[in-house]
Amino acid sequence: MSLERALGELLLSLFKPKELVYFLQDGPEGDDVVGALPSSLPGAALAREAVQALIRRGRLDDAFFDRLVEERSGREDDIQAARRLWILDTTSKQAEERVVEAGKKAVESGAQVESQISSAIVELESAIGRTIAQSQRAKRIALGAVFASLLVVAVAVAMLSGVDSIRSELKQLRGAVAEQASGAQKLLDQLEEVKQIAVASSRLADSALEAPEETVLESRRVSQPALFQQETEDRPRMAGKLWPIGKTLRVRFLGGSSEQHDQVEPWAREWLDYANLNLDFSDAPGAEIRIAFDAADGSWSYVGTDALVVPERSATMNLGFLEKGNVLHNFGHVLGLIHEHQSPNADIHWNEKAVLEDLQGPPNFWDAGTVNRNVLTPHDPDRYAGYREFDPDSVMMYAFPSSWTRDNRGFEGDATELSDSDRQFARRLYPGLN
Ligand SMILES: [Zn+2]
Repeated sequence: MSLERALGELLLSLFKPKELVYFLQDGPEGDDVVGALPSSLPGAALAREAVQALIRRGRLDDAFFDRLVEERSGREDDIQAARRLWILDTTSKQAEERVVEAGKKAVESGAQVESQISSAIVELESAIGRTIAQSQRAKRIALGAVFASLLVVAVAVAMLSGVDSIRSELKQLRGAVAEQASGAQKLLDQLEEVKQIAVASSRLADSALEAPEETVLESRRVSQPALFQQETEDRPRMAGKLWPIGKTLRVRFLGGSSEQHDQVEPWAREWLDYANLNLDFSDAPGAEIRIAFDAADGSWSYVGTDALVVPERSATMNLGFLEKGNVLHNFGHVLGLIHEHQSPNADIHWNEKAVLEDLQGPPNFWDAGTVNRNVLTPHDPDRYAGYREFDPDSVMMYAFPSSWTRDNRGFEGDATELSDSDRQFARRLYPGLN
């Protein structure tokens, strides 16, 4: 049972409802308490509500209980019992409130302590951090000092070894120069390739001169039937351009120094160790072979007996430059040999596109027909039946860049000595020597 209900039952046992209202009104500010009561209540509810209104307004105090004793003095023991109950309850409530309050304070102070602890931890950490930072700073300062002293040492060393550093700079420079030189070498290599093409091209330009119009030649040959009497079945026909076996060819120089003349003869005579022919360097007026030394005209020669159709005042050979290989090559033409790259047996897989591109450009500017005639088309296998096996080492072979062949095969060419095949072939064309 609650305290309010117990007090309410006490009030009902002391008063009839109407009496209770009068009693309440009779107390200090009693109208106010009565006014707070709901109208028309049953007696039991009225007493409980009255107690609650008194409690709310703070009227349930000692004066209230004294007034009750005064009004109903016959029931003083009951009233005093209720009074003690009320005091006890109030005290316990106050004690409880104090405990709650103390608890709250304890919690608050706990939080404060906690917060104090964490702030202490923060401070501690920060202090530790400062300590670490300071120690790092101290370390940096120490390292700085070491570096500074090292720098001093380095400067001293640098001053002392100035010569060495200059030396090493020179070494680096030398390295850079070497690098540039290697670049230059690459350029030179490329230039060499270009030069090869140019040389091959310019020499090929001469080859056009080595092959006069066949029709003209044929008509001339009719008037010189004696030249072709010695053809035999064993001897390759060589398009009818071979000299009679054992014939002496007279050679005349058209210009040139005696020094140049002296160079030509021994080189030319090397063929005569294998070919049954004679060369007579006597400057005879009717010489079959007439050699000019026009440096601006390249090197070329008519082939074999084609020389006979050239007017007597004109050269049948020009040596634009003097080298052994060059002289051997052109006297090979004198014997009747053709360019090895156009031999009917030539084993060259031309990259026709590349050859055409290079020769249609500078320095030749040939049209496609000329390129075909001088390079790409081999000589007629019937007219040159029995021609030797292809010999890239022959003095009759030019140098060709690898870019001119489909199998990327370059030809060194420009031999400076007769090849074995050159010697054997000379024996076959002009047999009779030991
Ligand atoms: Zn030639």
